[in-house]
Amino acid sequence: MDICKDLIGGQWVGASDHGSFETRDPAHVDAVLATFPSATAADAERAVAAAAEAFPGWAATPAPARGAILFRAAELVDERFEEIATTLTREEGKTLAEARGEVTRARDILRYYAGEGWRRAGEVLPANAPSAMLFSKREPLGVVAVITPWNFPIAIPAWKIAPALAYGNAVVFKPASATPLTALKLVECLQDAGLPAGVLNFVTGSGAAVGETLAASPFVGGLTFTGSHGTGAGIYRKATEHFARVHLEMGGKNPTIILDDAELGLAVKLAVMGGFGLTGQSCTATSRVIVEDGIADRFAAALAEAAAALRVGDGLDEGVQMGPAVSADQLATDLDYIAIGKKDGAELLAGGGRAGAGGHFLQPTVFDHVDAGSRLAQDEIFGPVVGIVRARDLDDAIAKANSVGYGLAASVVTDDLRRALTFVDRIEAGVVKVNEPTTGLALQAPFGGFKLSSANTFKEQGPSAIEFYTRTKTVYVTYG
Ligand code: NAD
Repeated sequence: MDICKDLIGGQWVGASDHGSFETRDPAHVDAVLATFPSATAADAERAVAAAAEAFPGWAATPAPARGAILFRAAELVDERFEEIATTLTREEGKTLAEARGEVTRARDILRYYAGEGWRRAGEVLPANAPSAMLFSKREPLGVVAVITPWNFPIAIPAWKIAPALAYGNAVVFKPASATPLTALKLVECLQDAGLPAGVLNFVTGSGAAVGETLAASPFVGGLTFTGSHGTGAGIYRKATEHFARVHLEMGGKNPTIILDDAELGLAVKLAVMGGFGLTGQSCTATSRVIVEDGIADRFAAALAEAAAALRVGDGLDEGVQMGPAVSADQLATDLDYIAIGKKDGAELLAGGGRAGAGGHFLQPTVFDHVDAGSRLAQDEIFGPVVGIVRARDLDDAIAKANSVGYGLAASVVTDDLRRALTFVDRIEAGVVKVNEPTTGLALQAPFGGFKLSSANTFKEQGPSAIEFYTRTKTVYVTYG
């Protein structure tokens, strides 16, 4: 078991009198992986103060030099690749193949934003007079608070921290309490790459103590959060009270629409990838499959068969295709929704129960004839529970797809170009795909949801990140 520390002002600090908390392996619930300090509001304030002190020096560091540190951090992630991926599986539960994919992504994100050190910095505009210049320059916000969920414990911190640092901000990072060990390894790689003291601070602890302090701090210029809608809404109110810039990415209830002409094998493959990949614990997971009547019986039977055939177990074991739920709480939520689905009259086609002892294992679960307005079809579950909703035609499918509060990701399976592009036009989601699973994102593309999935302020990732992590200053110069 590792006894881990926080990082404040360049110093590694252990648990204070306020104690520590444990993280556990969801595949072996008796195994404690690590302990972390239960940081207090005062610790979070100290971290913000350290970041504020380090900020001017970091902002004044030439952007290519900041980028060089991110490049070095990417190399360190590569050197520690298997150690980090294994830790991720042991802490979050996803399979080793999925964990390797996530670590690869985090490394590539570091490289992408390292390159930003050599790219755009502002815009020159035509001046209104001779011998004059008019331009805008981009500046960092100052201290950026980063609050992240447990389901992508290295990729999400990387896609927030890397652009924050690349554009010259100092960071206070609060990871999810279920997965701080994986997050710590990213922090170590960045710190070991040569970040000056205080530029990146790592504070573990509860949302109430650490998270709320960051949201309420008047010294935080920008706050970026990924997590559930309920938490995000509270953070938004707190942070906007002092006019911090806020970016929130939250839940989803993502549909895949399967039209009559879809190739059955492809449709099933995409629903399995989107619904059961990452144990359904992805914000973009496919939790609803909306199927046109003509293909619905064949699709439902084939999806149930594919779900039942998936091998569930410890993500480190060879051949395991789906890991456990992250925690006892998440498993209980999944089981509650299975009970709700049965009670509401949906037809259970596959799974529905625990899948083995010792860990938070759940069978991949498929319900058919799910009412589009029922809780199974409306609420984010965040587990491997897929509901099939039947639809008369494309109009009916789109109306059902759009009938939820969320609007994160959506996909359609069809070879009919006209219907595919009608779906693209009319679906209410920030990420829209044709013949792809709802999950899976390219790091160079903007990402963000509509409706309750987002604060609808900024997108993140790729070229969008600069919009959140910098502010523009307009400069008038006359030299005539
Ligand atoms: P969560 O909202 O419970 O926690 C997210 C983070 O907020 C954690 O670090 C937590 O400690 C912190 N927090 C909790 N209470 C807080 C408070 N009062 N003030 C400040 N911070 C607080 O979410 P989770 O269970 O870790 O993650 C699952 C959720 O994240 C799902 O809803 C999922 O859809 C969402 N998610 C969204 C995206 C996206 O990009 N849209 C990506 C991944 C996950």
